[in-house]
Amino acid sequence: MRGTRHPPLDFRRYPIHLQRENFMLAGKTALITGSTSGIGLGIAEQFARAGANAVLNGMGDAVEIEATRKRLGETHGVVVRFQGADMSRPGAIEAMFRAIGDEFGGVDILVNNAGIQHVAPIDAFPPEKWDAIIAINLTAAFHTIRHALPAMRQKRWGRIIQIASAHALVASPFKSAYVAAKHGIAGLTKTVALEVAEQGITVNAICPSYVWTPLVEKQVPETAKARGISETEVINNVLLAAQPTKQFVTIEQVAALADFLASDAAASITGAVLPVDGGWTAH
Ligand code: NAD
Repeated sequence: MRGTRHPPLDFRRYPIHLQRENFMLAGKTALITGSTSGIGLGIAEQFARAGANAVLNGMGDAVEIEATRKRLGETHGVVVRFQGADMSRPGAIEAMFRAIGDEFGGVDILVNNAGIQHVAPIDAFPPEKWDAIIAINLTAAFHTIRHALPAMRQKRWGRIIQIASAHALVASPFKSAYVAAKHGIAGLTKTVALEVAEQGITVNAICPSYVWTPLVEKQVPETAKARGISETEVINNVLLAAQPTKQFVTIEQVAALADFLASDAAASITGAVLPVDGGWTAH
């Protein structure tokens, strides 16, 4: 493996519950794309809590990102880095993997989470928004997977977790690019799972319905405009109407499933497209 690994931390300095051997994911390195906010940040925190070194990625305010990076590392006694690769740029993704390979010897747990949304009728859908959604929500996963696999194969252990969506399984009007990208992620998940099934690597997709994050908050006014209704009606009659539980899914619930999929107990779960949707896709 290229380069030198990060020197091990002296965990004897930490209280017993923070000592490395007590953690399920100790010694693993996780890259979570789009982890400066929302679901990705929740998963990064969960993995750090479980003892994995974490590489954060995403957009945002540099000072806030650095504060988050520092807080996660200090709270959980793991190495936390930030790589700001724009997931719509294949060259930036490749450079990020080179840097992670140099420091950690590769990614053990890859979470393809970065995503954007745009809500508009198909004939008014801006082509540049279509291209950006396909690039960030779908094509980026192709690139991260192809860069992550060589090190995983070498270790004969790897976990690839896609944060897809209930929209990988069903559609909603006015979300053509998002639904196309997420259905694509489901197909990519199954295909790669079959290709690596004998190599100790699992590939699964988590499909949440609505989780209250900046991504959902932003689409409330867009949906109100596309449907000609108020923002309150969007929340009650569009978002929660689809979910029999009438509750938003929580970030912690999604992170807990990601944590389980990363564990050795989940070694036989692969190629699965798993709803966490309060019953939405049972309709
Ligand atoms: P969010 O807006 O809180 O987070 C999105 C993250 O992606 C941020 O860190 C952002 O900086 C990053 N990002 C955006 N463009 C990027 C780019 N070009 N390069 C690198 N990073 C980029 O949204 P969220 O709700 O936490 O969404 C995370 C994932 O979960 C997305 O893939 C989304 O489709 C999926 N999802 C969300 C919901 C929901 O209801 N919130 C439901 C199902 C699936």
